[in-house]
Amino acid sequence: MKVLVPVKRVLDYNVKVRVKSDQSGVDLANVKMSMNPFDEISVEQAVRMQEAGEATETIVVSIGPDKAQETIRTALAMGIDRGIHVKTDAEVEPLAVAKILKAIVEGESPDLVILGKQAIDDDSNQTGQMLGALLDWPQATFANTMVKDGDSLTVGREVDGGIQTVKVSLPAIVTTDLRLNEPRYASLPNIMKAKRKTIEAKTPEDYDVDITPRLTTVKVAEPAGRTAGVKVADAAELVAKLKDEGVI
Ligand code: AMP
Repeated sequence: MKVLVPVKRVLDYNVKVRVKSDQSGVDLANVKMSMNPFDEISVEQAVRMQEAGEATETIVVSIGPDKAQETIRTALAMGIDRGIHVKTDAEVEPLAVAKILKAIVEGESPDLVILGKQAIDDDSNQTGQMLGALLDWPQATFANTMVKDGDSLTVGREVDGGIQTVKVSLPAIVTTDLRLNEPRYASLPNIMKAKRKTIEAKTPEDYDVDITPRLTTVKVAEPAGRTAGVKVADAAELVAKLKDEGVI
Protein backbone atom coordinates (compact mmCIF):
# COMPACT_ATOMS: atom_id res chain seq x y z
CA MET A 1 0.00 0.00 0.00
CA LYS A 2 1.28 3.43 -0.98
CA VAL A 3 0.50 6.32 1.37
CA LEU A 4 0.60 10.03 0.48
CA VAL A 5 0.86 12.60 3.29
CA PRO A 6 0.29 16.30 2.51
CA VAL A 7 1.92 18.60 5.07
CA LYS A 8 1.69 22.36 5.45
CA ARG A 9 4.25 24.75 6.92
CA VAL A 10 2.43 27.03 9.33
CA LEU A 11 3.03 29.44 12.18
CA ASP A 12 4.36 27.41 15.14
CA TYR A 13 1.54 26.62 17.55
CA ASN A 14 3.51 28.15 20.45
CA VAL A 15 3.82 31.53 18.77
CA LYS A 16 1.50 34.30 19.86
CA VAL A 17 -0.26 35.37 16.69
CA ARG A 18 0.02 39.05 15.80
CA VAL A 19 -2.33 40.67 13.32
CA LYS A 20 -0.82 43.08 10.78
CA SER A 21 -1.56 46.72 11.58
CA ASP A 22 -3.56 47.10 8.34
CA GLN A 23 -5.71 44.06 9.37
CA SER A 24 -4.93 42.35 6.06
CA GLY A 25 -3.71 39.16 7.73
CA VAL A 26 -1.40 37.60 10.29
CA ASP A 27 2.13 38.95 10.62
CA LEU A 28 4.53 36.19 9.53
CA ALA A 29 7.71 38.29 9.57
CA ASN A 30 10.44 36.73 11.74
CA VAL A 31 8.16 34.21 13.47
CA LYS A 32 8.91 30.54 14.02
CA MET A 33 7.23 28.27 11.47
CA SER A 34 6.72 24.52 11.87
CA MET A 35 4.84 21.57 10.43
CA ASN A 36 1.10 21.85 11.04
CA PRO A 37 0.56 19.78 14.24
CA PHE A 38 -2.17 17.61 12.68
CA ASP A 39 0.19 16.84 9.78
CA GLU A 40 2.81 15.57 12.25
CA ILE A 41 0.13 13.12 13.40
CA SER A 42 -0.49 12.07 9.76
CA VAL A 43 3.24 11.56 9.18
CA GLU A 44 3.50 9.49 12.37
CA GLN A 45 0.55 7.36 11.26
CA ALA A 46 2.05 6.70 7.81
CA VAL A 47 5.41 5.77 9.35
CA ARG A 48 3.71 3.42 11.83
CA MET A 49 1.84 1.76 8.94
CA GLN A 50 5.15 1.28 7.18
CA GLU A 51 6.76 -0.17 10.30
CA ALA A 52 3.80 -2.54 10.66
CA GLY A 53 4.33 -3.75 7.09
CA GLU A 54 1.01 -2.25 5.95
CA ALA A 55 2.52 0.57 3.86
CA THR A 56 5.16 -0.25 1.28
CA GLU A 57 5.94 3.34 0.31
CA THR A 58 5.30 6.68 1.96
CA ILE A 59 5.46 10.06 0.20
CA VAL A 60 5.20 13.53 1.71
CA VAL A 61 4.05 16.57 -0.29
CA SER A 62 4.07 20.22 0.62
CA ILE A 63 2.84 23.17 -1.42
CA GLY A 64 4.53 26.41 -0.43
CA PRO A 65 7.65 28.57 -0.59
CA ASP A 66 11.27 27.31 -0.61
CA LYS A 67 11.17 26.97 3.18
CA ALA A 68 8.46 24.30 2.85
CA GLN A 69 11.38 21.99 2.02
CA GLU A 70 12.39 22.17 5.70
CA THR A 71 8.96 20.81 6.61
CA ILE A 72 9.36 18.04 4.04
CA ARG A 73 12.81 17.21 5.51
CA THR A 74 11.24 16.95 8.97
CA ALA A 75 8.77 14.38 7.63
CA LEU A 76 11.62 12.51 5.91
CA ALA A 77 13.56 12.50 9.20
CA MET A 78 10.51 11.03 10.95
CA GLY A 79 10.64 8.14 8.47
CA ILE A 80 8.78 9.07 5.26
CA ASP A 81 10.53 7.69 2.12
CA ARG A 82 10.54 10.62 -0.30
CA GLY A 83 9.12 14.08 -0.87
CA ILE A 84 7.45 16.29 -3.46
CA HIS A 85 7.77 20.06 -3.12
CA VAL A 86 5.30 22.12 -5.14
CA LYS A 87 6.90 25.53 -5.03
CA THR A 88 4.87 28.71 -4.89
CA ASP A 89 5.23 31.94 -2.95
CA ALA A 90 1.52 32.67 -3.30
CA GLU A 91 -1.02 31.82 -0.64
CA VAL A 92 -2.82 28.73 -1.88
CA GLU A 93 -6.44 28.25 -0.85
CA PRO A 94 -7.79 24.78 0.07
CA LEU A 95 -9.52 24.25 -3.30
CA ALA A 96 -6.29 24.88 -5.22
CA VAL A 97 -4.35 22.66 -2.76
CA ALA A 98 -6.93 19.91 -3.31
CA LYS A 99 -6.65 20.28 -7.11
CA ILE A 100 -2.84 19.97 -6.97
CA LEU A 101 -3.14 16.96 -4.65
CA LYS A 102 -5.65 15.37 -7.04
CA ALA A 103 -3.12 15.69 -9.88
CA ILE A 104 -0.40 14.17 -7.67
CA VAL A 105 -2.72 11.31 -6.70
CA GLU A 106 -3.41 10.65 -10.38
CA GLY A 107 0.34 10.46 -11.05
CA GLU A 108 1.37 8.46 -7.97
CA SER A 109 -1.74 6.27 -7.47
CA PRO A 110 -1.56 6.01 -3.67
CA ASP A 111 -4.04 3.75 -1.86
CA LEU A 112 -4.42 6.18 1.01
CA VAL A 113 -4.02 9.94 1.53
CA ILE A 114 -3.66 11.04 5.15
CA LEU A 115 -4.17 14.78 5.71
CA GLY A 116 -4.50 16.82 8.88
CA LYS A 117 -8.07 17.70 9.84
CA GLN A 118 -7.16 21.36 9.60
CA ALA A 119 -4.25 23.71 9.13
CA ILE A 120 -3.88 25.83 12.26
CA ASP A 121 -3.18 28.99 10.26
CA ASP A 122 -6.34 29.21 8.15
CA ASP A 123 -8.45 26.76 10.24
CA SER A 124 -10.25 25.86 7.02
CA ASN A 125 -10.86 22.13 7.61
CA GLN A 126 -11.63 21.81 3.89
CA THR A 127 -8.75 20.30 1.94
CA GLY A 128 -9.31 16.62 2.77
CA GLN A 129 -13.03 16.86 2.09
CA MET A 130 -12.47 18.72 -1.20
CA LEU A 131 -9.89 16.16 -2.29
CA GLY A 132 -12.32 13.36 -1.47
CA ALA A 133 -14.98 15.05 -3.61
CA LEU A 134 -12.61 15.76 -6.54
CA LEU A 135 -11.38 12.15 -6.59
CA ASP A 136 -14.78 10.68 -5.73
CA TRP A 137 -13.06 8.62 -3.01
CA PRO A 138 -14.54 7.69 0.36
CA GLN A 139 -13.34 9.79 3.27
CA ALA A 140 -13.10 9.36 7.03
CA THR A 141 -12.46 12.68 8.75
CA PHE A 142 -11.28 13.40 12.33
CA ALA A 143 -9.62 9.99 12.78
CA ASN A 144 -9.04 8.93 16.35
CA THR A 145 -8.17 5.31 15.52
CA MET A 146 -7.28 3.63 12.22
CA VAL A 147 -7.07 -0.10 11.57
CA LYS A 148 -6.34 -1.60 8.17
CA ASP A 149 -8.30 -4.67 7.44
CA GLY A 150 -7.83 -6.17 3.96
CA ASP A 151 -8.91 -3.69 1.32
CA SER A 152 -10.55 -1.38 3.80
CA LEU A 153 -9.84 0.79 6.80
CA THR A 154 -11.85 0.94 9.99
CA VAL A 155 -11.69 4.45 11.37
CA GLY A 156 -12.92 5.76 14.72
CA ARG A 157 -14.04 9.35 14.18
CA GLU A 158 -14.13 11.99 16.89
CA VAL A 159 -17.67 13.32 16.89
CA ASP A 160 -19.54 15.37 19.49
CA GLY A 161 -19.93 13.26 22.60
CA GLY A 162 -18.18 10.13 21.41
CA ILE A 163 -16.56 8.08 18.68
CA GLN A 164 -18.25 7.05 15.46
CA THR A 165 -16.75 3.97 13.77
CA VAL A 166 -16.84 3.85 9.97
CA LYS A 167 -15.40 1.46 7.43
CA VAL A 168 -14.06 2.88 4.16
CA SER A 169 -12.82 0.91 1.17
CA LEU A 170 -9.42 1.78 -0.26
CA PRO A 171 -8.37 3.98 -1.95
CA ALA A 172 -9.53 6.50 0.62
CA ILE A 173 -8.93 9.85 2.29
CA VAL A 174 -8.39 10.09 6.04
CA THR A 175 -7.98 13.29 8.05
CA THR A 176 -6.30 13.04 11.43
CA ASP A 177 -7.50 14.32 14.79
CA LEU A 178 -5.40 15.16 17.83
CA ARG A 179 -5.62 11.87 19.72
CA LEU A 180 -4.78 9.44 16.88
CA ASN A 181 -1.17 9.10 18.04
CA GLU A 182 1.75 10.95 19.57
CA PRO A 183 4.24 11.98 16.89
CA ARG A 184 7.86 10.97 17.43
CA TYR A 185 10.85 13.29 17.49
CA ALA A 186 13.31 12.66 14.68
CA SER A 187 16.59 11.20 15.96
CA LEU A 188 19.90 12.76 14.89
CA PRO A 189 20.89 9.74 12.72
CA ASN A 190 17.50 9.93 11.01
CA ILE A 191 17.89 13.69 10.44
CA MET A 192 21.23 12.94 8.75
CA LYS A 193 19.70 10.10 6.71
CA ALA A 194 16.85 12.38 5.61
CA LYS A 195 19.36 14.70 3.90
CA ARG A 196 19.98 11.96 1.33
CA LYS A 197 16.32 11.28 0.57
CA THR A 198 14.93 12.78 -2.63
CA ILE A 199 12.61 15.75 -2.89
CA GLU A 200 11.11 16.21 -6.34
CA ALA A 201 10.75 19.90 -7.32
CA LYS A 202 7.46 20.87 -8.96
CA THR A 203 5.28 23.95 -9.50
CA PRO A 204 1.48 24.39 -9.66
CA GLU A 205 1.86 24.93 -13.43
CA ASP A 206 3.31 21.41 -13.78
CA TYR A 207 -0.09 20.17 -12.66
CA ASP A 208 -1.97 22.71 -14.76
CA VAL A 209 -3.69 24.14 -11.68
CA ASP A 210 -4.74 27.79 -11.51
CA ILE A 211 -4.04 28.90 -7.93
CA THR A 212 -5.57 32.37 -8.29
CA PRO A 213 -7.45 33.05 -5.03
CA ARG A 214 -11.23 32.77 -5.13
CA LEU A 215 -11.71 34.45 -1.77
CA THR A 216 -11.02 38.01 -0.63
CA THR A 217 -10.02 38.51 2.97
CA VAL A 218 -12.04 41.48 4.13
CA LYS A 219 -10.42 41.88 7.53
CA VAL A 220 -8.47 39.97 10.16
CA ALA A 221 -8.96 41.18 13.72
CA GLU A 222 -7.57 40.10 17.08
CA PRO A 223 -10.08 38.82 19.63
CA ALA A 224 -11.38 41.53 21.95
CA GLY A 225 -9.18 41.89 25.04
CA ARG A 226 -10.59 40.64 28.35
CA THR A 227 -12.04 43.31 30.58
CA ALA A 228 -10.64 43.59 34.10
CA GLY A 229 -12.31 41.49 36.80
CA VAL A 230 -13.76 42.73 40.13
CA LYS A 231 -13.04 41.46 43.62
CA VAL A 232 -15.91 40.48 45.90
CA ALA A 233 -15.69 40.16 49.67
CA ASP A 234 -17.43 36.82 50.07
CA ALA A 235 -19.65 34.18 48.47
CA ALA A 236 -22.85 36.04 49.39
CA GLU A 237 -21.69 39.13 47.50
CA LEU A 238 -20.67 36.95 44.55
CA VAL A 239 -24.12 35.31 44.38
CA ALA A 240 -25.84 38.69 44.70
CA LYS A 241 -23.69 40.11 41.90
CA LEU A 242 -24.33 37.15 39.61
CA LYS A 243 -28.09 37.49 40.23
CA ASP A 244 -27.86 41.19 39.65
CA GLU A 245 -26.18 40.69 36.30
CA GLY A 246 -28.62 37.97 35.25
CA VAL A 247 -25.95 35.23 35.15
CA ILE A 248 -27.91 32.98 37.55
P1 AMP B 1 -7.06 23.14 5.69
O1 AMP B 1 -8.18 22.60 4.84
O2 AMP B 1 -6.40 24.36 5.11
O3 AMP B 1 -7.49 23.35 7.13
O4 AMP B 1 -5.90 22.02 5.69
C1 AMP B 1 -6.18 20.66 6.00
C2 AMP B 1 -5.01 19.79 5.61
O5 AMP B 1 -4.75 19.89 4.20
C3 AMP B 1 -3.67 20.09 6.27
O6 AMP B 1 -3.59 19.53 7.57
C4 AMP B 1 -2.70 19.44 5.29
O7 AMP B 1 -2.67 18.03 5.45
C5 AMP B 1 -3.36 19.73 3.93
N1 AMP B 1 -2.83 20.99 3.36
C6 AMP B 1 -3.38 22.24 3.44
N2 AMP B 1 -2.59 23.14 2.81
C7 AMP B 1 -1.52 22.47 2.34
C8 AMP B 1 -0.34 22.83 1.62
N3 AMP B 1 -0.10 24.10 1.25
N4 AMP B 1 0.55 21.84 1.31
C9 AMP B 1 0.32 20.56 1.67
N5 AMP B 1 -0.76 20.16 2.35
C10 AMP B 1 -1.67 21.08 2.68
